[in-house]
Amino acid sequence: PPVLAIIGRPNVGKSTLVNRIIRSRQAVVEDVPGVTRDRVSYLGEWNGKDFTLVDTGGWEADAKGMQKRVAEQAEIAVDEADAVVLVLDGLVGATAVDEAVVKMLRRKKKPVLLAANKVDSAAQMTEVYPLWNLGLGEPYPVSALHGSGTGDLLDAALQAMPETAQYGGLTPTGGPRRVALVGRPNVGKSSLLNKLAGSDRVVVDEVAGTTRDPVDELITLGEEQWRFVDTAGIRRRTHMASGSEYYAMLRTQRALDKAEVAVVLLAVDEPLSEQDVRLVQMAVDSGRAVVLAYNKWDLMDGERRYYLEREIERDLGHASWAPRVNVSARTGWHKDKLAPALRTSLANWEQRIPTGRLNAFLGELVAAHPHPVRSGKQPRILFATQPSTRPPKFVLFTTAFLEPGYRRFITRRLRETFDFTGTPIEVQMRVRE
Ligand code: GDP
Repeated sequence: PPVLAIIGRPNVGKSTLVNRIIRSRQAVVEDVPGVTRDRVSYLGEWNGKDFTLVDTGGWEADAKGMQKRVAEQAEIAVDEADAVVLVLDGLVGATAVDEAVVKMLRRKKKPVLLAANKVDSAAQMTEVYPLWNLGLGEPYPVSALHGSGTGDLLDAALQAMPETAQYGGLTPTGGPRRVALVGRPNVGKSSLLNKLAGSDRVVVDEVAGTTRDPVDELITLGEEQWRFVDTAGIRRRTHMASGSEYYAMLRTQRALDKAEVAVVLLAVDEPLSEQDVRLVQMAVDSGRAVVLAYNKWDLMDGERRYYLEREIERDLGHASWAPRVNVSARTGWHKDKLAPALRTSLANWEQRIPTGRLNAFLGELVAAHPHPVRSGKQPRILFATQPSTRPPKFVLFTTAFLEPGYRRFITRRLRETFDFTGTPIEVQMRVRE
């Protein structure tokens, strides 16, 4: 669903407004300024339309640098959103901090709605008129506490958002986890599916009446149901003739697009092929959680094993963080190892590092291993945050560009310190003057 971000400085009532919108008590409402809290997302619904609501609570409010951090947090949320609600204290009016945020919002060119909160009575409505001066259009007077005005605000917000968001296909649905089983022809995908599904195959049609080909299957592994996507293509026995790698790749991409986690199946009876390496790369690039499974282990011998380890080191270094599962689709050996690996990868794919921990880690790391000094200057890292998960994405705010080697070093240490087995992670930089 489209993403609506709620931003604003502390104590304007963002969390109360979020609670009001999602009509539940799961959002943390905290009146104490300076409480560290990370950005939280909720599924919201209004007039039959779903949307994802992002509450941006989490900055550490040490008095100095506060203004900057507010703006930074807000900026990240805005980049991820389809529309933004800027919450102001309607009775206080626009402060300097608010105005800094407004300036940033103008650059972003995203739809912005101005919510003037704490307008609890009709008599106070006139207080919001000066907010027209911000140039963001009509201010919506709301009382998050009493609920008045939030309906108009949501109407306007949903109207400002695209019907189908760009994040289509990857919403946290709460149903079975979606798995893409990919691999070159003859690695044993179809055999493995048979072994995993056993006799109880549950076939689910994507959308009744549309394309018949990409059928999904519900398979129980480790007492949990998983949705293997696009299995019809795997089960079709007609192995494609040469020159069809292109179509195999297309089908793989389609499956990856629909999945949350990819199992890339390789077979140990033959040397790793270029196509194998490309498929692993596709899975890594897709931003999905990844598990590498090595099939036909019943054919393994000592010599082959020696070469296999070297091939993996040489050709699959870009996926060295993916868990490995050795299986035999023929005998069923280790088939129960798949579910735990899937769970590990997915859990890490959704892992969120609290802002406080992240910055403590970086502070220590940079103190012990400072960025090399080049031409008299040393780039500094001001602040780091993790704006999103699935997969984890980090943003470092720096005074200058970090050297690629240093950025890789930080990425590697992030991986080692917080367990990111099974998930790609992304580290971005934003340079601040
Ligand atoms: P797909 O093209 O990836 O779906 O591969 P298939 O499932 O059709 O398997 C290709 C061939 O490998 C078939 O002849 C299978 O019998 C064989 N095969 C699959 N898994 C194993 C395994 O674990 N061990 C052995 N020895 N052969 C296997």
